[in-house]
Amino acid sequence: MTAREVGDGNLNLVFIVEGPRGAVVVKQALPYVRLVGDSWPLPLKRAYFEWNALVRQAACQPRRLPHLFHFDPVNALIVMEYLTPHVILRKALIAGRQFHNLAEHMGVFLAQTLFRSSDFCMETSKKKADMALFADNVSLCAISENLVFTEPYFDAPLNRWTRPQLDRPALALRADSAVKVGAQEMLYRFTSKSEALLHGDLHTGSIMVTPDDTRVIDPEFAFYGPMGFDIGALIANLYLAYFSQEEHGGDRDERLAYGEWLLETAENIWSVFAESFARLWREERTGILYPRRLFEDVGDAAGATVGLHRFLGAVFEDVIGFAGAKIVRRLVGLAHVEDMESIADPERRALCEARALLMGRELLVNRTTFNDIYGLSCLARSIR
Ligand code: ADP
Ligand code: MG
Ligand code: MG
Ligand code: MG
Repeated sequence: MTAREVGDGNLNLVFIVEGPRGAVVVKQALPYVRLVGDSWPLPLKRAYFEWNALVRQAACQPRRLPHLFHFDPVNALIVMEYLTPHVILRKALIAGRQFHNLAEHMGVFLAQTLFRSSDFCMETSKKKADMALFADNVSLCAISENLVFTEPYFDAPLNRWTRPQLDRPALALRADSAVKVGAQEMLYRFTSKSEALLHGDLHTGSIMVTPDDTRVIDPEFAFYGPMGFDIGALIANLYLAYFSQEEHGGDRDERLAYGEWLLETAENIWSVFAESFARLWREERTGILYPRRLFEDVGDAAGATVGLHRFLGAVFEDVIGFAGAKIVRRLVGLAHVEDMESIADPERRALCEARALLMGRELLVNRTTFNDIYGLSCLARSIR
């Protein structure tokens, strides 16, 4: 039996353990943040939240997760399927690879995990018990609350950015009331809208892919929050890929085509999500919200459809604001993305980052002004 540590995340250890009958992955929490060290303690209980989230997501959509084998709360470790030949989506995007099922897989995954854990579907006593369980994931929520919504906008000690090239736009955020209010409005939604069980950290480093398969890992930030947070996180990371990709090789035509594929993927994730959510709304609406006896049962199916569209409109607005916040924090906050960090020349990196920052700001400040997801693609193209 051999074990090697392969973790490249910010928080935990991940081992591939191989024996004569095959290999598994063992993920173990440390009592501190891996990225920072033991000066930043973090409870081991995050493994418990991750396991509980994995179990619930697997009940919704098992094909998009690793198989789950074992949870050991004492050692804060999870034993799961070793995904191979899967690679981390972020690395594949940096390499310029396209995945033609990605948007379909992720749109359906998001609709199923979010709808089925909401008051549209889940029995209310079960949802409340689950909300109580995940409400204790205080430390990981606090990381998002501080690092995503607040620290990028003041002189927080762990902030960093490409200096001095990005100084001007990075420092400008601190005096930019509109963007600070936008970020705090999104924080208010984050802390107060308990719509569904979120993954909580759904960036392109939490997705593993092959040409045909898509798996979602690492839901340790799970809690009951606004649906738009997961969707916004994912498309934010596609926009970060978009603004970085011209520094990752290929000729001009290839780069343009790849950029368009990234934008199209963001568009399709939203449209597949909205379509799948609408199907679930029609077929699995068994919760306390929009009961059929108010609508379909009395011949008012149209009324329920109005409700669906109004709800999706509100989620869409959240998606835009959360995407903006997620973009900004990856450029001027503590945790950055390899898409940008791997651009060696700071002048060229800062050019990419400045464009992405402009997009992030625009999404935060003007989130109510977009009619549809295609408007986000137009904005991205106009900045690049
Ligand atoms: P962290 O919480 O520290 O971010 P992750 O769960 O994201 O940890 O895992 C870190 C890395 O370990 C991933 O980027 C991936 O390379 C690898 N990894 C995690 N889970 C698996 C798995 N089930 N199969 C294969 N590799 C995995
Ligand atoms: Mg991770
Ligand atoms: Mg990570
Ligand atoms: Mg993690």
